[in-house]
Amino acid sequence: MASSNPSSRTFTTLAVPDSMSRKVQVTGKGTPNLTTIVKQYFPDMPREPAQKSTIAFAFDIDGVLVKGKEPLPGASETIRLLQRLKIPYIFLTNGGGLTEKDHAAKVSARLDVDIDPDQFVQSHSPFHDLVPIYRNRRILVVGGEGNQIRNVAEAYGFNDVVTSSDLFVEWKNCHPFPELTAQHHSAHGRPTPDLRTKEIAAILVWSSSRDWCIDLQVMHDLLLSCGGVFGKKSSKAGDVELPNNGYLQDNQPKLYFSNPDFNWVTEYHQPRFAQGAFRECLEGLWRYSTKGEAKLECTSIGKPSETTYTYGERMLKAFHEKMYRSQNMEDGSGGGGPPAIKTVYMIGDNPDSDIVGANTYKSRMGAVWNSILVETGVYQAGTEPSHQPTYHAKNVADAVRLALDKEGYGDSLGKRIWMRVIQGKEVYDNEGRANKGDGDNSCNKKKRVLQDRINTAESIEAMLPQFGKLKLPAR
Ligand SMILES: [Mg+2]
Repeated sequence: MASSNPSSRTFTTLAVPDSMSRKVQVTGKGTPNLTTIVKQYFPDMPREPAQKSTIAFAFDIDGVLVKGKEPLPGASETIRLLQRLKIPYIFLTNGGGLTEKDHAAKVSARLDVDIDPDQFVQSHSPFHDLVPIYRNRRILVVGGEGNQIRNVAEAYGFNDVVTSSDLFVEWKNCHPFPELTAQHHSAHGRPTPDLRTKEIAAILVWSSSRDWCIDLQVMHDLLLSCGGVFGKKSSKAGDVELPNNGYLQDNQPKLYFSNPDFNWVTEYHQPRFAQGAFRECLEGLWRYSTKGEAKLECTSIGKPSETTYTYGERMLKAFHEKMYRSQNMEDGSGGGGPPAIKTVYMIGDNPDSDIVGANTYKSRMGAVWNSILVETGVYQAGTEPSHQPTYHAKNVADAVRLALDKEGYGDSLGKRIWMRVIQGKEVYDNEGRANKGDGDNSCNKKKRVLQDRINTAESIEAMLPQFGKLKLPAR
């Protein structure tokens, strides 16, 4: 696409609609730039449309955009393409353990693309909605190591957060088998003066437990406690005169799980237990200790739950509005809101999570949710998925291409990118100098910009084979 010799004149081949192809005869002094050529030969070219997107995307992350710590082929380019096209999208992951800001920064670095934390929905993100209920009430948080989850919960706005380690510091022998993990709990547990008297109002499982032994024990204790006070047993448990045989009838804490996945894919060659397996254990213990005569009431969020898709859609709508406002400010094209999103494509690798969630979700904003199953993660190509997606695609790049094609985006896509080429927004010289005046001429940035340019050209060519071609000199 571009010569490596900066002194030579370079050309890049970009596609334009056949109807716009004309013989280019350059007049004037010196080497004309693209704007000159286009103004001269394409006077009727429409202005780049303001962002009018009525489609949107929701991406799972693991097995779709990254595998382990590495980006999957085409992932970064695909996200950049949507950024260029001003198409709204969110990330909808059952991962977690960090604030949205920190997790977005981590994925952003892995993919080398800018991600707004407002686009980032983790398994426990809907816990934000619990803050008004439990802001100043005590909650027990489960999962992660050290004070990782306590810190995230406090960043969310919960002001009274305790951990199993705090309980261990207060009652060393509440842990039935402390030999292997006592040091960790002693190091991270905080002395809490009213731990023996103040009730714990809720148990929030944020992430996978690192010490199932103590976590299952203290959660089970609290579910049988009197009023959520640790170490105090309810006298109502087993009373057949009461509803649920007296279980959970004594103001015990409400129980929340954030991720129903039974297992997950790691670098190991077989799946590993995830939070769903931990919940199965607690339910098994509960069944045994209540002789199967009491229901364990809990709320489970994360994909494929309706709660998470509802929350994700709300975030998507808000992000779309934010993007639209900033675009309008940039263009000076006035106020008004964005058009309603009509179609959302959920791209995922897990039929039991991403696909069934999108298939069954009833949109609150009247959009149609389609699912696209890719072959780069949990789902193995050639096997029968447990839930049929709306579409199949090899990878995320093919999935987005397929969606844009289905939505008839081809023509306007070509025009939009083409107009950006015309306006100099997608034109780079053969050194990759593209961002005049931003002061960053680092080698990496040049390389990235140059690669971006190549990807843009390739995207157009791949997606719009019906277009004719015109050779244009790079600036
Ligand atoms: Mg996945």
